[in-house]
Amino acid sequence: MKNNNLNNKSLRSLRKYLTFVIFTMIIISILLAAVFTLALAYLHLLPKVGASPFGFLFGILGISVAIASFFAYYINEHILRPIRTLSDASKTVATGNFNVRIDVRTDIEELNATFDNFNNMVTELNSIETLRNDFVANVSHEFKTPLSAIEGYTMLLQDEALSEAERNDYISKITDNTRRLSSLTGDILLISKLDNQTFASEKLSFRLDEQIREAILTYEPAWTDKEIELDIDLPEINYTGEENLLLQVWLNLIGNAVKFTPKGGRITVIMTEFQDSVVITIADNGIGMDEDTAKHIFEKFYQGDTSHKSEGNGLGLALCKKIVTRAGGNISADSTLGKGSTVTVKLPK
Ligand code: ADP
Repeated sequence: MKNNNLNNKSLRSLRKYLTFVIFTMIIISILLAAVFTLALAYLHLLPKVGASPFGFLFGILGISVAIASFFAYYINEHILRPIRTLSDASKTVATGNFNVRIDVRTDIEELNATFDNFNNMVTELNSIETLRNDFVANVSHEFKTPLSAIEGYTMLLQDEALSEAERNDYISKITDNTRRLSSLTGDILLISKLDNQTFASEKLSFRLDEQIREAILTYEPAWTDKEIELDIDLPEINYTGEENLLLQVWLNLIGNAVKFTPKGGRITVIMTEFQDSVVITIADNGIGMDEDTAKHIFEKFYQGDTSHKSEGNGLGLALCKKIVTRAGGNISADSTLGKGSTVTVKLPK
């Protein structure tokens, strides 16, 4: 509100200022015309130009008023009116409506540039707002599913006639959903920390090969259960970086490879050291992805494969991308539906 008032005030004062300038110009023209006519009359030059002193004076006055009126019209149409449009559009944006655009074009380059900047700013604000709304909707949805499950199983548990097996089954479902909620909150917290420019974590020197082995071992029960064959080539490499964040990358990528590879499949983890970078590839011969899925996998909350929906939240690869980009590296995925996927991470040394 304060800004709007300021805007109006400056608009009014600009108009007053321009009116003052134009009228000062008219008065100065009248005075000059009068002095000029008196001078001509004094020097007896008026008869020579064939005009009476008053006719001459009024002629010059008419021309001055016409020029001043033209300026007044020009300034109003080409400067004041566009500025008023900008002020009205800004007021609309201030109310939270980001769909407003200024289509007006003037002959003044600076004003056109201001309108372009305004339109770009509103487009940017609109996309941030859309992203924020989508994010809130996705978070609410992801929370709702496990919460409803916990509520349902808790109600079922209240039945005193339940068998021991049923009771244990419901308790384990509640535990799974609680774990899901906990990992969801952890991921959301980490994403929001990474989005915050000021977030900093300590850079340490550590054995990258050992960190990746640790991530592989975390999933041992799952890959043993699925009888997945592992092919690992991890030479000893010391790396300096945000150790805890990078561990999240390997956990997510290896977790996905295990999750999306059926029984009896194969996962290959290879690390290669170059002069100024380290390249890690995690490949599986699992279900793979179609082209459309592969395009979206790094977006927050995107889940391509619906059969494993409850085993994740769609934040894993978005987190990986944020962490790898933050480390100055890049991450890409190459996949064929039904054949498998290869994720490549390149980190600068
Ligand atoms: P989540 O695994 O929790 O669903 P991610 O962000 O880790 O979320 O992955 C997003 C989507 O990318 C997955 O839902 C899946 O469709 C696809 N995806 C990721 N890794 C693989 C993989 N190794 N094989 C097949 N699809 C994958």
